[in-house]
Amino acid sequence: MTLDESWISSSVGALIGSPSGMRTDYAAGLDMKDLGRTVSACGWVQSVREHGDHLVFIDLRDATGTVQCVITERMELHLEWVLRVTGVVRARPVGTVNAAIPSGEIEIADAVVEILSQAQPIPFAISGHRDGNTDELVRLKYRFVDLRRSRLQRNLRARAQINSAIRSSLEESGFLEIETPLLWTPTPEGAREFAVPSRLQPGKFYVLPQSPQIAKQLLMVSGFDRYYQIARCMRDEDLRSDRQFEFTQLDLEASFVTQQDVRNFITKAVANATAVVTGETNLDFPTITHREAISRYGSDKPDLRFDHSIVELSESFKGSGIRAFDQPSLGAFVAPGSAQLTRSKLDELVDRAKSLGAAGLVWMRVKGQGETLSVDSPIGKLLDGGQVATIVEATSAKEGDVVLLVSGEFGLVRSVLGTLRVELGRRYLELSGLKYLWVIDFPMFEGLDEQGNPIAAHHPFTMPNPDDIDMMQSEPLSVRAQSYDLVLNGWELGSGSIRINDPTVQAGVFTALGISDEEAEARFGFLLNAFNYGAPPHGGFAFGIDRLAALLCGEETIREVIAFPKTQSGMDMMTGAPKAVSNSILGSYGLTVKVDKPMSTGS
Ligand code: ASP
Repeated sequence: MTLDESWISSSVGALIGSPSGMRTDYAAGLDMKDLGRTVSACGWVQSVREHGDHLVFIDLRDATGTVQCVITERMELHLEWVLRVTGVVRARPVGTVNAAIPSGEIEIADAVVEILSQAQPIPFAISGHRDGNTDELVRLKYRFVDLRRSRLQRNLRARAQINSAIRSSLEESGFLEIETPLLWTPTPEGAREFAVPSRLQPGKFYVLPQSPQIAKQLLMVSGFDRYYQIARCMRDEDLRSDRQFEFTQLDLEASFVTQQDVRNFITKAVANATAVVTGETNLDFPTITHREAISRYGSDKPDLRFDHSIVELSESFKGSGIRAFDQPSLGAFVAPGSAQLTRSKLDELVDRAKSLGAAGLVWMRVKGQGETLSVDSPIGKLLDGGQVATIVEATSAKEGDVVLLVSGEFGLVRSVLGTLRVELGRRYLELSGLKYLWVIDFPMFEGLDEQGNPIAAHHPFTMPNPDDIDMMQSEPLSVRAQSYDLVLNGWELGSGSIRINDPTVQAGVFTALGISDEEAEARFGFLLNAFNYGAPPHGGFAFGIDRLAALLCGEETIREVIAFPKTQSGMDMMTGAPKAVSNSILGSYGLTVKVDKPMSTGS
């Protein structure tokens, strides 16, 4: 799957078919069929080549691509000037055809040029598909120029196609797009929220939604049955990783549905979006339980572009006398990239495992097979032939493979091996393709807080598995939720659940979470109240469109698929936001600013 420049030309058909008063044609629409026609094209000067005898060749770029124009008139032209060029289409001389672009066989000759706008020298070259070494902060400051590059044109077009594919897929199943408020009240996703002061009620604040969660549940109470929205959401979280304060998610909710129904809707929408961008139509969306994901891959968002699954060997080594192995859990798997793991790299892996919290890591390289099977390992001497065979067989290791083993508590063993699995796989294997995965049956709670209250793994409206409700007070950590995540290539794309629509169950969950009646009433009273007026069973999902677009475009950061992203410190390099506001504005909200910390810039 590569979305190269030729992908762009396939995505701009509608533009090409729709000229305007100023232009008869777009660049990528011109080819041999147009020979002899007088045409007008508009765009930016991508390159200027002056030949002797007063001939000037320019590549004129518009939203569809470029077309070569030959100008005989003497005139001053510079990169990125905006022109309207009128001339006659003729075949390029033999030997000068450019097969890489749709208009590569022709040129606009005898061109008459109207200069529509001049440009200062641009801060960085934009003709290449990739950005070279331009500092990202400079790119963001001149984002309007940066966005002219074919790579970003491609990304934003792909993103629009993703949105459109999602819309048509959901609308085919009767989903209705409904906008929910941006000026809202705290929502239950748990991240820090942006507050917006109210001028008419000084001292009071709206909150920008972290998700339309409560609004969409209310729409189910209102009987809309199937809602969706391509929703902007805001979370005031530290931007250490690849995040933005504001992001876009496909948000969906449906009534009278099972978990499987919701997953089917999302699978269809995501498959459609993937197909429209990459052309891939035969994608699998397998399902795995949370327990199995942790056990086999040490992660609740396994990257399935490679297998290398973890096996549990503690039973085989119980009472073996080998202290490092006789532990509650002993996990083992074949290291991705075994061949590249030299002795010093293996030593580094031991340190890495320790830095992740393991007591240690045992490695063993498989030598020989069958009768001649043995291992090269720091603990090789402690193992008899049968034990070696057990490990090699259980992990399906072949000659030359390195098996990695970590022991200790189950959770720690899985998190260490899961991290090593991904780190080694991404470093040493050539990973390609798209591997979607549904992870289901998440636990309802992810641990206990200092007061011994369970910590919700999802928002508190998630319905527990009916088979586990009895354990809510006695054994909360064993309760499964009716919740599910969609994973793509090791990234969590989104999550959803069947919601609680029964006030008694909701009260039980709030109690389990240590949320008092008063707090529940203050935070979510309006939703609980709505549930007293006939709430259908309902469930939904939300997934990140920024992340999906980045993965489908083969981009490493979501900033490459967002028109005007902020830096990792939340700065908008182009506008300078956030900025101080005047005292009179503050005054109208009844606010004064006490902290006068200098704003940091940069990423
Ligand atoms: N509101 C949830 C989120 O934004 C998703 C959902 O449960 O629908 O993560």
